[in-house]
Amino acid sequence: MEVGGGVDSESKSQRRVGLLYDERMCKHSTPDGDPHPENPDRIKVIWNKFQANSIPQRCVLLDAKEAEDKHILAVHSQKHVNLIKKISSKQFDSRRNRIASSLNSIYLNEGTSEAAYLAAGSAIEVTERVAKGEVDSAVAIIRPPGHHAEEDEAMGFCLFNNVAIAASYVLNEKPELGINKILIVDWDVHHGNATQKMFWKDPRVLFFSVHRHEFGSFYPATDDGFYTMVGEGPGAGYNINVPWENGRCGDADYFAVWEHILLPVAKEFNPNLIIVSAGFDAAIGDPLGGCRITPYGYSVMLKKLMNFANGKIVLALEGGYNFESIAKSMLACVEVLLEDKPILGSSEAYPFESTWRVIQAVRQKLSAYWPSLADELPEELINQKVAPAVYVLTSSSDSEAEEDHESPKVSQHLEEALQEIIEPLSKLKVDESTRDHVASNSYTWRSELSKVDIWYAAFGSNLWLKRLLCYIAGGQVDGLQKSCVGSVDKTPPKEITWKTFPRRMFFGRESTLSWGPGGVAFMDPESNSQDKTHMCLYRITLEQFNDLLVQENYGGYAMSSPLFDLTALNSVTGQEPNSLQVRLEKGWYRNVVYLGKERDIPVLTMTCTPSDVEGFKSGELPLCAPAKNYANTIVRGLVEGKQLSQEEAMAYVQEAATKAL
Ligand SMILES: [Zn+2]
Repeated sequence: MEVGGGVDSESKSQRRVGLLYDERMCKHSTPDGDPHPENPDRIKVIWNKFQANSIPQRCVLLDAKEAEDKHILAVHSQKHVNLIKKISSKQFDSRRNRIASSLNSIYLNEGTSEAAYLAAGSAIEVTERVAKGEVDSAVAIIRPPGHHAEEDEAMGFCLFNNVAIAASYVLNEKPELGINKILIVDWDVHHGNATQKMFWKDPRVLFFSVHRHEFGSFYPATDDGFYTMVGEGPGAGYNINVPWENGRCGDADYFAVWEHILLPVAKEFNPNLIIVSAGFDAAIGDPLGGCRITPYGYSVMLKKLMNFANGKIVLALEGGYNFESIAKSMLACVEVLLEDKPILGSSEAYPFESTWRVIQAVRQKLSAYWPSLADELPEELINQKVAPAVYVLTSSSDSEAEEDHESPKVSQHLEEALQEIIEPLSKLKVDESTRDHVASNSYTWRSELSKVDIWYAAFGSNLWLKRLLCYIAGGQVDGLQKSCVGSVDKTPPKEITWKTFPRRMFFGRESTLSWGPGGVAFMDPESNSQDKTHMCLYRITLEQFNDLLVQENYGGYAMSSPLFDLTALNSVTGQEPNSLQVRLEKGWYRNVVYLGKERDIPVLTMTCTPSDVEGFKSGELPLCAPAKNYANTIVRGLVEGKQLSQEEAMAYVQEAATKAL
């Protein structure tokens, strides 16, 4: 590629930073032009941002290269390499889409093979240059991403595991470079499942991944990302997972993990090279990630890593689906590597309580391998409810004057950073085709639905406020066998009121993941004047209602679009029928029923479909009385809500469990 510049370009920076970008990696795109979050514009916007800030002129521009099969084969099977090599050829024209649909979250087109080989080869190229010391550090703006790509399977938008291929290359093919300890830091919001497996037994690679996990419900939705997965044999202790229990983690949470896990371990491990699996989908504004790292946050995280491996750091792009966020975050990172600007900013938030819980669990598990993790964290730290110290990092270069000049920015608040990131898409200088891009649209659904209030009418275990709060704030109550993730917006209900409705409540299904054996409550969506169901109405937002819907139906994926949006709300509050099944195949509570209005705000509940009711009546689906723990939640709800006495509440449950449908 020809982008000008080069090793001898006028560079004001003292550190040499390699930079690699090649438009040929844009050739991988959806075959029919359908919108997709992992699309070519992702790398274009980063490159445009770099150009607008004169970054290429300050870097050593490196050329993209296609990886050789023998180097890819270090971590992938021959069968997988053959498939990716040939997938774009004519012979696959008729089968390509079918193959893609048999894979998990993958599309394929005529440009796929070339882009995949370039992404892997470019990761090798930048890593080798850094390993050789030709540049101090390097940034590879590459796609498709890699960390989900397993030995024998493409998945999660990833085809070849670029970072794993590059690490294997310098370890196995270039022993003369003396790189024998590599730290891979995977800060993509998703677990680097494939990288973990590829170095599972290899003590030369310390794999560290911090990701949303939510007890195995967040993509890739397995237990592999849990902190108990520490590696095996000689690799035991060289695999560290920090699994978030909830979304919304931001700078403060990541800084705490850096401070109390990653940095002490990095010091002990003493790597001679660091490769960052640099996904930016934990960035604030990302439509899939739901976390809130600011560009400043990434700067600090990266700057702290520069104290190791003599600053030999490679940044290889992984995920990240909000154009503005990835461009700003990556710019902040390259500026840190160039060391020609002080890092300014502050974080006034403090970590989630769950963050400390996770950090402590990880430290305890890993302390057998890393003595620096053995000490208990002080109580004052864990219980802090005030802002942690402001981080201000300045470089040692000629930037002091600049720092003074910009000093008012030191007190910049997180809120301001937030404002800056969440700009309307129209402000982005990208191709017209990205205007109605799915990723950005899906981000806005949360802010749109967060402004709409509804009453959520509960009739089962959610009658008990404490249980309902698990779905909002996350956590667990008596009898519940599994902790809840909670909603993205953890604000408790604004108001609570009670009402009875002419509906039939009954108990069905024989056991659940949440409660164990015993039936759970359903409500016949049809009204029936003979029956009376007590309902607790919680005033929450339509955004929270969507998070509730997902949790009630055991779905565990990042919602890039809502299950029940404003159009759905208008349709159920309009004409008959007053219920709507959301797009979930199997959920038991996928039928949203409109129960009228309460003070002009729509009342919604979720229950089974009318055809399930038929199934319960015919005996095709089992009716089953609730176990004691589940019945207790209903009784507690009714008693604490002052609707019925203990005896009346027990009789109410008893009747619903025994009366014929
Ligand atoms: Zn990701």
